[in-house]
Amino acid sequence: MQTEVIIKCLCGKEVVLEVEGGQYPNTYNGDCKCGRKWTLTELTEILEEIDNC
Ligand SMILES: [Zn+2]
Repeated sequence: MQTEVIIKCLCGKEVVLEVEGGQYPNTYNGDCKCGRKWTLTELTEILEEIDNC
């Protein structure tokens, strides 16, 4: 299972999101250096959409 996801913040920096685990196995959290907090859920569906492009 993938435990890290890299997204691009609105400020242009890359942010590494790490899976929360425990009772939220599909939730990824990460903080950008600019101060924004990011949360991704249901990532599997997002990845499927990317594959279809
Ligand atoms: Zn940022």
